[in-house]
Amino acid sequence: MKRVLLIATTTGYQIRAFGEAAEKLGVRLVFASDRCDRLEDPWWDQAIAVRFHEAEASAGAVVAALEGSRPDGILAVGDRPATLAAAVAQVLGLPGHPPDAAFRSRNKLASREAMRNAGLPVPSFEPVSIHADARALARSASYPAVVKPLALSGSRGVMRVNTAEELVAAFERLRRLLQSPDVRIERDEAHEMAMIESFIPGREFAVEGLLDHGTLRLLAIFDKPDPLDGPFFEETIYVTPSRAPEAVQRAIEEAVAAAVAALGLRHGPIHAECRVESRAGVEGPEVYVLEVAARPIGGLCSKALRFSGQRAAGSGQEATGTSLEEVLLRHALGEDVSAFTREGEASGVMMIPIPQRGIYRGVEGVEAARAVAGIDGIQITMKPDAVLVPLPEGKSYLGFIFARGTAAAGVEGALRTAHARLRFRIEREISVA
Ligand code: ADP
Repeated sequence: MKRVLLIATTTGYQIRAFGEAAEKLGVRLVFASDRCDRLEDPWWDQAIAVRFHEAEASAGAVVAALEGSRPDGILAVGDRPATLAAAVAQVLGLPGHPPDAAFRSRNKLASREAMRNAGLPVPSFEPVSIHADARALARSASYPAVVKPLALSGSRGVMRVNTAEELVAAFERLRRLLQSPDVRIERDEAHEMAMIESFIPGREFAVEGLLDHGTLRLLAIFDKPDPLDGPFFEETIYVTPSRAPEAVQRAIEEAVAAAVAALGLRHGPIHAECRVESRAGVEGPEVYVLEVAARPIGGLCSKALRFSGQRAAGSGQEATGTSLEEVLLRHALGEDVSAFTREGEASGVMMIPIPQRGIYRGVEGVEAARAVAGIDGIQITMKPDAVLVPLPEGKSYLGFIFARGTAAAGVEGALRTAHARLRFRIEREISVA
């Protein structure tokens, strides 16, 4: 039986999706995680315990635990596991992203430097200590600007500021976030720094891609139809195929390929975010690649992608409804997955944002929302009585809405209509000061 090593922080859906794909393919998954304490979760039975802040020691621990029997492939789920997966792939001699490339893709400063050095468009950026004097920074900054951490994800801690006063407030807010126990537990020295960048206006797109020994293939370009102008940047709707003109989509593809090369990423899944600015007097769209993560799209969102393609091993059968996880497992095992293409239908997902702080008590209207034409699934992932923390400090969603249809516009409409039918009950927290 072939084995794939899966390095992950999350429990939950994405792991189950890989589990199901592995079962279908007759592949055994070997897990490595920092969540081995999650005893109630059967996926972590016999998982190899790692600590993401000790990549070298953890890579050694993984190799030792494998007792000389090399897995047939390796995959990472999540940003922190991606760096460790690269280190383990190198030690084991498996194809993967080089460790320094995985580091650059994870660290927003190193990413910006690599792309700037390669001559690619980047916002102007300035790394600063989180202990710096916010007022002095505010005096020298140009506005609008973006204040952000170097190594968090999901737009956590990312804030647009239009004035010096806003910069001071945002910088202090980011400092508090980076010093909170929840972030400090990662013991990442990148959390001692912040970055101040110029704000890039424009439409935003997400790109799912697969690198095969240095050659990039795009699996999907998603439009993000909600304007992302700040002050916070919550991702909501992703819809594919993109409705952008062909020339813009080509420019996105070229820009992501150039960014991948600048970072040095080589083999495995990638997920990129770009902003496309059309400026008066400048020919063609200018694509800013804001980041390229060395991992697949996160969490439940991968359900918005389904593939069809010729099955390998000469069965001659056309497989449809293949999950992203199955394509990635096959790729990790060295199979040629170039025949897998995204299914023709338009598809979209809405990550339901947390509208306000409070205690989550429940939701009404799910059935009515499910009844909207085109809605393919609604999953409320928030647990009753949980404390809700919105962006920029928060890191979760209330749930996910999925839609499919013949046209991207209809899919977007279905997502918005379904969302409008959901009524979340959120109680104000009572302070017991
Ligand atoms: P994360 O890794 O947490 O997603 P990003 O650096 O990708 O952090 O930023 C999150 C979002 O914030 C982006 O998708 C974009 O909408 C917005 N953003 C970040 N930097 C800029 C910038 N310089 N100009 C405009 N928007 C930005």
